[in-house]
Amino acid sequence: MNWLEQSENVAVAEGQSQDESWISSDRFVAQFDGAVDDYLNTLITEALKAGASDFFFTPREETVDIAIRSMGLLRPWGQITRDFGLRLIAHLKVTANMDILRSFHPQDGRIRFRLKNSGSIDLRLATLPTIEGEDMTLRILDSRNMLTVEDIGFHRTNYKRLYDIASQPGGLILVTGPTGMGKTTTLYAVLKHLNDGTRKIHTLEDPIEYTLDGLHQSQINLSRGVDFPDLLRGILRQSPDVIMVGEIRDNVTADIVVRAANSGQLVLATSHARSTVEACEAMLFLGVQPQFFASCLLGVVTQRLVRKLCPQCKLSLHGEHDDGQKQMYVPCGCPDCNHSGYKGRIAVGEVLKVSQDLEKMIREGASMYQIHQRAVDEGMVDLRTDAQDKLEQGLTSVDEILRAVPGQFADYNVQ
Ligand SMILES: [Zn+2]
Repeated sequence: MNWLEQSENVAVAEGQSQDESWISSDRFVAQFDGAVDDYLNTLITEALKAGASDFFFTPREETVDIAIRSMGLLRPWGQITRDFGLRLIAHLKVTANMDILRSFHPQDGRIRFRLKNSGSIDLRLATLPTIEGEDMTLRILDSRNMLTVEDIGFHRTNYKRLYDIASQPGGLILVTGPTGMGKTTTLYAVLKHLNDGTRKIHTLEDPIEYTLDGLHQSQINLSRGVDFPDLLRGILRQSPDVIMVGEIRDNVTADIVVRAANSGQLVLATSHARSTVEACEAMLFLGVQPQFFASCLLGVVTQRLVRKLCPQCKLSLHGEHDDGQKQMYVPCGCPDCNHSGYKGRIAVGEVLKVSQDLEKMIREGASMYQIHQRAVDEGMVDLRTDAQDKLEQGLTSVDEILRAVPGQFADYNVQ
């Protein structure tokens, strides 16, 4: 598709076909396209500096509002005129091969965006029809920033356990936590560790978040009738050693996953459950037989992400010389952290490694409290202990812990 054709589509999509003056000139089209690209370049470069992971374009009556998500928190970024904003959204849709004429259906796509002077990044786009037009979300997928398991910030005991369960030849590992809490980052960190050329690794995602050389990555495509169970069966016929399933959403997928994990493949999957034990309950709720589930389950990783205090400006609550009390720190703000008091994020989590005793308890339907307590007795550093540890090390603040780890999920003693 050449530029003029793209721009004609833009015009039709915006209901501007009656005014063809701006598409009748190649020169004008080139300027228009250049203006959008220049604007996107500046916007993305600036927002990357501010640590943005997502952009949100929201059409309003006279403007298109732009917000970013940075370190998990939404914040306004600016406004552009509605006319320019709609052109920008249409331009992104065309570039991502989305159907420009379908503005009343949610769509998704992906583009590689070249940044001036600093390489290129992958962007995942998703649109949603709204009362004022069409919202667009851009997620930045920067494979250059892919972390290792050590970088994520798990407690030393937890990441050793994670390596331990991930090096098993077969079985199921669940990574659980709310959306935006770094589950995919953890899965990719594990895959990066396993991707040493000795294993055939397949991923099944919706959509693909990162690309990693050496992996076989597949994406479901519901509009073409390709769903999770279909692709998963296809992958099993490819003789995989490791399978990463984005999310177990239905009973057919759950059944296939457990069969694969029981027949010698290492399967990694995510769940939106809030805690380790709820993740186990969710699998049983999907109709998986407890004995098959218990016999293949290697472990469950539960995690949250909290913002890290800026080391340049954090303030001690008890002063430097107060030896009797444990140190706690609060954010302050300096030029180094954009005056937010925080810089980067770190995981707070727990890794439940299924022992023979725990396998028996899951099989027999033991309570949430009993399973958790047994795991702690066996040496698991739980979410609450890890959070406390990170507070005492001055890595994060009480506010961050309270925001990301609500008390009822961290404190099993109240059950
Ligand atoms: Zn600072």
